[in-house]
Amino acid sequence: MRAMTGLEEAQRRLAEIPLLQVTLNEPLWKHTRFGLGGPAAVFGCTADEAAFVEAVRRVRASGAPWVVIGMGTNLIVADEGFPGIVLRYDGARIRIDGNRVTAEAGAALQALVDAAIEAGLQGYEGMTGIPGNVGAAIYGNAGAYGASISDRIVRVRYFDGAEVRETDREGCGFRYRESEFKRRRLRGEPWLILSAEFEFPAGNTEEMRRKAYDIRAVRNQKYPPDMKCAGSIFKNLLWEKLPGLARAAVPPEVIKGGKVPAAWFLDRAGAKGLVRGGIRVSEEHANTLYNAGGGTAADFRALAGELKRRVRERFGIELEEEVQYIGFGEVSP
Ligand SMILES: Cc1cc2nc3c(=O)[nH]c(=O)nc-3n(C[C@H](O)[C@H](O)[C@H](O)COP(=O)(O)OP(=O)(O)OC[C@H]3O[C@@H](n4cnc5c(N)ncnc54)[C@H](O)[C@@H]3O)c2cc1C
Repeated sequence: MRAMTGLEEAQRRLAEIPLLQVTLNEPLWKHTRFGLGGPAAVFGCTADEAAFVEAVRRVRASGAPWVVIGMGTNLIVADEGFPGIVLRYDGARIRIDGNRVTAEAGAALQALVDAAIEAGLQGYEGMTGIPGNVGAAIYGNAGAYGASISDRIVRVRYFDGAEVRETDREGCGFRYRESEFKRRRLRGEPWLILSAEFEFPAGNTEEMRRKAYDIRAVRNQKYPPDMKCAGSIFKNLLWEKLPGLARAAVPPEVIKGGKVPAAWFLDRAGAKGLVRGGIRVSEEHANTLYNAGGGTAADFRALAGELKRRVRERFGIELEEEVQYIGFGEVSP
């Protein structure tokens, strides 16, 4: 009789975990906002923390390739899919206790923002409209309009592959769109976020509602809710790290908070409106790519590669993707 592969063994061991839903050959395009990507050999999800932790333990032990995803709003999955195990934690409870809020990692970030506003807790209004869940927002230190998830975090509970642990804000090592969780994953030792605790100063709910409403109107125009996209594709650049040629080209009014929008360089490199197959660069925003219908991950990679080449040749800058790749045989941020 044929010996079981690591993947088959992992699948068998995952199926034994109560409260974990396991499917085979799960199409990943269904789980990404871009609507791209082939199947995951094995897909497991659960809203139960202990089941998620046990699933991570078992896939780690199997030696099969694996990855954790959130709501798939920042992912590009290969057309061939992912020949391993994809896990998702769906625990989504949010608890408010005075000026402290605890949220499970699978809660929508918007649910946390809304809960804070309605409880009169100030600080996350600027993040209104950022898609995705709380865990992924911490992983990538998501933010917008002057607010970042790192601003109000006091504690994060996570699984390091051996034990469930807690860390304070300092231990999260937050930087611009980066955290210790992201760096660990890049080193192949992921820490999986389970829940987090936040502390807020008091604010005026009416004012916060108004601000959130205005931000949502602007964002809906930039990213219509049915747009198959991932927000900004490339990271903005720190002005002080730019090479001399690029620095000289950037007018001072473009620099905001020490950063230059990647869109500024892309625009000058003629990005707007470029097309590869079904993937396009928005005519309005040079750092927004979207699936206009029938796009493939190969089209996306070709177009992103073309944009990087143009910016490199014109400004001597290497743009870095903010979006994450799955199934391309590489670990990406
Ligand atoms: C229209 C649009 C607008 C956007 N605007 C913004 C913006 O203004 N600001 C901004 O910062 N981002 C923005 N984004 C990007 C995206 O919303 C964020 O990156 C978001 O945090 C991704 O959340 P997700 O749940 O979809 O994660 P996914 O895309 O599913 O995963 C992202 C990463 O998070 C990791 N991850 C997920 N869950 C966990 C966990 N529990 N523990 C550890 N790692 C985990 C995954 O491994 C993966 O590497 C935008 C995206 C879209 C589509």
